[in-house]
Amino acid sequence: MSSLPRAPVAIVAAMHEELSALLAQMPDEQRVRVAGRDFWVGHLQGQPVVAVLSRIGKVAAAVTATVLIERFGVRAIVFTGVAGGLAPGVKVGDVVVATELLQHDMDASPLFPKHEVPLMGMARFAADAAIGNALAAVAADVLRDPVALVGQQAVDEFSLRQPGVHRGLLVSGDRFVSTTAESEALQRELPDALAVEMEGAAMAQVCQDYGVPFAAMRTISDRADDAAHGDFARFVVEVASRYSLALVGAWLATLPAQDAGSGAAT
Ligand code: SAH
Repeated sequence: MSSLPRAPVAIVAAMHEELSALLAQMPDEQRVRVAGRDFWVGHLQGQPVVAVLSRIGKVAAAVTATVLIERFGVRAIVFTGVAGGLAPGVKVGDVVVATELLQHDMDASPLFPKHEVPLMGMARFAADAAIGNALAAVAADVLRDPVALVGQQAVDEFSLRQPGVHRGLLVSGDRFVSTTAESEALQRELPDALAVEMEGAAMAQVCQDYGVPFAAMRTISDRADDAAHGDFARFVVEVASRYSLALVGAWLATLPAQDAGSGAAT
């Protein structure tokens, strides 16, 4: 086994701008088209990776994860994207690294408890702790200097003062949460939820089925409320894609070099 090349890590982005920033750093990427998606096979920071745009929503995420595992044999999947902040201290420009993920729109009650995935007996899917801890550590380091990361103009425009790093529950559903009423309802129902997005928990479920480590890191783009700032697209380009690139790059650089010989995952 140690003589085989190490299996790649999957880097999944939700937004086109994020993926193009990553691809620009991959010297040797080769496109493989499966299920209407472009999977980019190559290297980042000397590590074998497959980069792909999942598209938006839980089904899109599940298909992407399945193809990554079945066709590309990835040894771990890392999702990087944006999310709406739910918990009070989770502000625009912060980063949330999931410890566990839940589908907030899963509800087969009264046959099964609310949020439980029927016949799996679970509502919360654990993210890989080692990858999550490593991502949180590089995030804390990189976010110490937001001006160096995104520039003074973006720091001012989006009021990025002392961005924080949070670890905890990330919830996913097929809804863009953009009203205060819905955000408050989610917080009442799931008081420990830090942020809401539309893909993570679906990927976590697929990874659980296959026994493949999964991690999710999200930059907070909005507060999932009525005031969710209109300049979502600009935030993704100016802030989130730069965070993603810096954090994913810094994390990959911490992994043992490909030819170290141990072949050990992560
Ligand atoms: N206006 C954007 C909308 C994208 S949907 C566009 O046209 O491209 C939002 C994406 O960001 C999803 O992939 C989701 O995972 C994440 N997201 C960010 N904020 C969110 C919120 N408040 N609720 C749900 N998903 C959110």
